[in-house]
Amino acid sequence: MYRTKNCGELRISDVGQQVTLSGWIQKSRDLGGLTFTDVRDRYGITQLVFNMDENQVLCEKARKLGREFVIQASGIVRERSSKNASRPTGDIEIEVTELNILNESKVPPFTIEDETDGGDDIRMNYRYLDLRRNPVQQNIIFRSKLALETRKYLDSQGFIEVETPFLIKSTPEGARDFVVPSRLNPGQFYALPQSPQTFKQILMVAGLDKYFQIVKCFRDEDLRADRQPEFTQIDCEMSFVHIEDILNTFEGLTKHLFKNTLGTDLPDFPRMSYDEALQKYGSDKPDLRFGMPFYELNDKAKGKDFSIFDQAELIVGFVAEGIAESYSNSNMKELTEWVQRPQIGAKGLVYVKWMEDDTIKSTIGKFYDDDTLKSWISAMGGKKGDVVFILSGETDRTRKQLSELRLEMGRRLNLIQPGDFKPLWVIDFPLLEWDEDSQRFHAMHHPFTSPKKEDIPRMLNGDHETMKSLRADAYDLVINGAEIGGGSIRIHDRALQSKNFDLLGFSKEEAEYQFGFLMGAFEYGAPPHGGIAFGFDRLCAVMNGQSSIRDFIAFPKNNQGRDMMIDAPSLIHEHQLAECRIALVKDLDKK
Ligand code: ASP
Repeated sequence: MYRTKNCGELRISDVGQQVTLSGWIQKSRDLGGLTFTDVRDRYGITQLVFNMDENQVLCEKARKLGREFVIQASGIVRERSSKNASRPTGDIEIEVTELNILNESKVPPFTIEDETDGGDDIRMNYRYLDLRRNPVQQNIIFRSKLALETRKYLDSQGFIEVETPFLIKSTPEGARDFVVPSRLNPGQFYALPQSPQTFKQILMVAGLDKYFQIVKCFRDEDLRADRQPEFTQIDCEMSFVHIEDILNTFEGLTKHLFKNTLGTDLPDFPRMSYDEALQKYGSDKPDLRFGMPFYELNDKAKGKDFSIFDQAELIVGFVAEGIAESYSNSNMKELTEWVQRPQIGAKGLVYVKWMEDDTIKSTIGKFYDDDTLKSWISAMGGKKGDVVFILSGETDRTRKQLSELRLEMGRRLNLIQPGDFKPLWVIDFPLLEWDEDSQRFHAMHHPFTSPKKEDIPRMLNGDHETMKSLRADAYDLVINGAEIGGGSIRIHDRALQSKNFDLLGFSKEEAEYQFGFLMGAFEYGAPPHGGIAFGFDRLCAVMNGQSSIRDFIAFPKNNQGRDMMIDAPSLIHEHQLAECRIALVKDLDKK
């Protein structure tokens, strides 16, 4: 037997027991007559003691143990004279009588402790060593528990887990496909699924009624911070449902997950329309852990000879409480430079400070008198001692810039409490989004999303402008400013689906070529259906108050989309390349 106990379970009540442990050497301290060695496994760390006076040979052997050697040690559990309260096993140690070295280790390239000295690259190269570190293991263990609780809840609600294929045809979630050449079908390619979207809809046509899958999705997107080319979704679909049924079911799932992994009771989720989210927070994924909602000032600020405001489509600001005195001119200058950085792109920042002595200090004092500016602050919910930040310009861009500033001020003013969770549903998304560059509509969610029932006549008969105002039965789950899930009620009627493809600029042939199977299925009694997918990696990160999804993936890719440990992607042999028989099919673009 390699072990009778693990390295995390022995307590004072075990004193006197004969035990055997196996694990890795964390570190050794040689104090002349005594050698103390920490042995570690997934469950914890236990101190071993070797006594020179009692067993010289054994003690000599222990002194040779290096970091990360794999050992097996047997001995008696005894009470420690100097206890370590920060460790669950800190009251005891093992007086070792037998030691086996199961494997040696080279000196690891970074320290395998909670706080490591290893940089990102080296830790990714030696992922197996990084994964030995307790915080990383805890993340992976959390992920496992979250998946298990997801299955428990969805099973209790009657969902069936179905695996859908990875070698498929393109599904449009708006990203580029990863493609796989088919050896048996020269010149033809599979695409890896960007999501199981079409399959889960087909499963509804097939009568499975409630489907879920914890599933890998693949999107060949341009590399942005914290994006992974392969990531995991909790993917779900239900038949005979309205929006309400879906929101309730998945609010239930979210509450269950928080309760059963973190012990946190979430309140009922508020709902906010897409329009309201943009108007109040400048974002369709507002962080509600702090206030500072937007207030539009067009009515108040225009027509006073301040040309920047007069020319702006939108003048909008928010109140930052209590910083009029503490935010100096140099703070304001620095903040102005912050919004002017190319990542934010604002031209400038207008502020109005209502000082404690009742005076106003403002960048626009020339154009508006003090009483007017005070009345703005009051109308915006502010008071003496507060500052108002204002941006102006084209509506969408200005909202986005102010949203960034709001988040930054939330951080700077420490308004975010650790462990605070603020979920909400964002609903009533537009169906289509006009893209100026390509001069065509894109599906705001995806092309299978249903317009709201009352908007269908306008969709079928409306002109171009009408299309911009169509609303979809689509929804997002947002927690702490992160998009955790998104879904929609689907179109289940061939004619309507076909119309949607048409609006999205697909030719009849193209739509048929790519999605003929789905539209064909709709002709055989497709039930009304809808669903949602949660970003599983992101959910793990948000629940743990972390920003990087990478830390919750056992083998993540780096920012160049590379797996550094196995060194992929890599070149392949000429014979493999030949087997792929890749040929260009020029006609497809004409289809
Ligand atoms: N397939 C969608 C996505 O990946 C989710 C859904 O509509 O259910 O975002």
